[in-house]
Amino acid sequence: MFENLSERLSGVLDRLTKQGALSEDDVKTALREVRVALLEADVSLPVARDFIKKVQDQATGQAVTKSVTPGQQVVKIVHDALVDTLTGEGDPGALKIDNAPAPILMVGLQGSGKTTTTAKLAKRLKERDGKRVLMASLDVNRPAAMEQLQILGQQVGVDTLPIVKGEDPVTIAKRAKTQASLGGYDVYMLDTAGRLHIDAELIQQAADVRDVANPRETLLVVDGLTGQDAVNVATEFDDKIGVSGVVLTRMDGDGRGGAALSMRAITGKPIRFVGTGEKMDAIETFEPERIAGRILG
Ligand code: GDP
Repeated sequence: MFENLSERLSGVLDRLTKQGALSEDDVKTALREVRVALLEADVSLPVARDFIKKVQDQATGQAVTKSVTPGQQVVKIVHDALVDTLTGEGDPGALKIDNAPAPILMVGLQGSGKTTTTAKLAKRLKERDGKRVLMASLDVNRPAAMEQLQILGQQVGVDTLPIVKGEDPVTIAKRAKTQASLGGYDVYMLDTAGRLHIDAELIQQAADVRDVANPRETLLVVDGLTGQDAVNVATEFDDKIGVSGVVLTRMDGDGRGGAALSMRAITGKPIRFVGTGEKMDAIETFEPERIAGRILG
């Protein structure tokens, strides 16, 4: 892993460039380094390839600004193109929560950080937006998951739907809706069951819940450290359930954030938030600039 793409590119490019414009060869040489950087950041190969092609066309022939070296200039072009690809429409942090009670469906694999993210977002909605939030766990397979949400709810001061043993997820979702309406809540969050891998039952369950809840937002929680796998997960969930955005967790870890670029390029879904730790405040609105910087090292 290298730390500074800018320096490496300067070494390669500043020797080559004699004229005032970036030649095709210079750009090609530079983009070889950029390609390595992308792959090291865990960007998938087809996405890295497409991206490089796009930047190649943009950069070739560009006049080199006097104040920067050609290397710095290529880094800037690459950085801006990364930001461009990563940027979705609208404000990623603005959840659609008008028409109370607004349902938010949380989906994702087990261990992705779904339950933690549900509580983090509930806290955020309460504290930043002054919303009354109700959370409900639909994980009937793992009673511990229901209790976990309840404990997190107490921790962040957000109500959870009382646990009733023996109910199926659809029944719980309906009960959450009723309770949210009667209790005057602005938002109710449905934390669906996760599994280690995507399977037909998991998808069916989430689809059934979606059909009764008619969510305003369906947020897919993905472990940002899983790289390539994250893209497959996102594609599958989006095809089968339809997601309105992605939350990338564990962005406090060593990962370079390449999954963000791949996911955005392949699914077209906006990344809305990033999880940056285990604490309940460790969630941030997605900022393309920051991830772009991280991908480039
Ligand atoms: P779920 O099975 O998808 O509901 O996953 P959990 O919410 O139970 O999270 C699994 C583990 O990941 C827990 O120990 C969380 O504290 C941890 N976790 C969740 N989000 C993050 C994050 O953004 N960063 C870090 N470092 N850990 C996280």
